[in-house]
Amino acid sequence: MKRARNFWRLLAVLVWAFSLAWAQEAGTIVIRNATILTVTHGTIRNGSILIRDGKIAAVGRNVRVPEGATVIDATGQYVMPGIIDCHSHIAVDGGVNEGSVAVSSMVAIEDVLNPTDIDIYRDLAGGVTTANVLHGSANPIGGLNAVIKLRWGATAREMLFAGAPPGIKFALGENPKRSNFTPQPGTPRRYPATRMGVIDVIRQAFTEAREYQKRWAEYRRRSAAGEPNLIPPRRDLKLEPLVEILEGKRLVHAHSYRADEILQLIRLAEEFGFKIATFQHVLEGYKVAKEIAAHGAGASTFSDWWAYKVEAYDAIPYNAALMTERGVVVSINSDSAEEARHLNQEAAKAMKWGGLSETEALKLVTLNPAKQLGIADRVGSIEVGKDADLVLYDKHPLSVYAVVQKVLIDGRVYFDRAQDMARRAELEKEKKELAEKLQRSSGREQPTRPAGRRPGAPPRPGEGVQQDREVRP
Ligand SMILES: [Zn+2]
Repeated sequence: MKRARNFWRLLAVLVWAFSLAWAQEAGTIVIRNATILTVTHGTIRNGSILIRDGKIAAVGRNVRVPEGATVIDATGQYVMPGIIDCHSHIAVDGGVNEGSVAVSSMVAIEDVLNPTDIDIYRDLAGGVTTANVLHGSANPIGGLNAVIKLRWGATAREMLFAGAPPGIKFALGENPKRSNFTPQPGTPRRYPATRMGVIDVIRQAFTEAREYQKRWAEYRRRSAAGEPNLIPPRRDLKLEPLVEILEGKRLVHAHSYRADEILQLIRLAEEFGFKIATFQHVLEGYKVAKEIAAHGAGASTFSDWWAYKVEAYDAIPYNAALMTERGVVVSINSDSAEEARHLNQEAAKAMKWGGLSETEALKLVTLNPAKQLGIADRVGSIEVGKDADLVLYDKHPLSVYAVVQKVLIDGRVYFDRAQDMARRAELEKEKKELAEKLQRSSGREQPTRPAGRRPGAPPRPGEGVQQDREVRP
């Protein structure tokens, strides 16, 4: 009894200490003596950043340290804005593709966000602070996306980037026509199976969405005029997001490779009077960069990842630079939990291939994806008033030798390399103990349990969802 009381007392003290630490971290912080890569206002040597209540309050060489502020000494280190990954599939629980139908605009990534996915922590450790978590590319019109901040330790809801405009995934080419996928035995092949079918599915869906929009407009007009006994149109959760697109309230992120298909979707969007926010992958974007710029779409591409299928053959490493030169807002994305850990290096490649400046290269993974996601007023550069989402590197972040030291989101340290290193031995010990415990308990159970999972037990991670995972972009 006494022991239990002591335990609760200890827990209370710990909670108090933790909340104090939290308050302190989210309170006033000054990062001092750093080389600050602001992205919008050049480089500041020996500079400081004052953070108050999660926001950047001052940046410069003469920033006063307020009393009681936590000081982070960044002598010899570089600070850049938190990296924004415009194409990610981390933190998705189960399949990323609702591939059973051609139009899946009624499903949402937000419903299956898994805040305990270790990829969140790993990408955070690579300097990523915001990610555009997208549905897969199995459908001409896919599911709704979720823009998240990588607030490791928070709940799924708390990770959502509040105020980020909603979006949706579209896809063109081989993936939506399912050319590289075999249907389950006994199931028919899904429509569409050709590139013309893909564009037909999109056109048909928007034709229906227009009609749906008209029905609701008519109902609202008559209702506002005071007409009695009106029956509202039946809600259609598949068409509602498409109406939002037509009304400019939802961003379209369109998976695409070939130049002809990019033009095809631009024509379709202009036919229906909406805009494509970003072309994703867009490996042949350099061929139609002028047209992409004229439409006002962004391009979110890879630095040098290609040839994994026929439609990804005609890629060149100059893509990002050529599109940038023609006025397209370009970002470099990961589409992979591993690639996301070194997006700084992916951006740096555009300096070698295409000769972008240092700032232009940094923009590829900071300000430009922020613009593409409609969150540039909040993140993407180091400016007073913006969220204190920052990454500290030991060397210039565009160097292959640079290693992330600390990552802050909303002025709170979410990753600290020194702390991580210090905890590794302790975690290793705990892991070993748990493995031994498991071995002992499974040794007892072994005679009564066949190999593999117990009947009725939940599937293991990955089990049964393999065919849904996007094995390639
Ligand atoms: Zn993807």
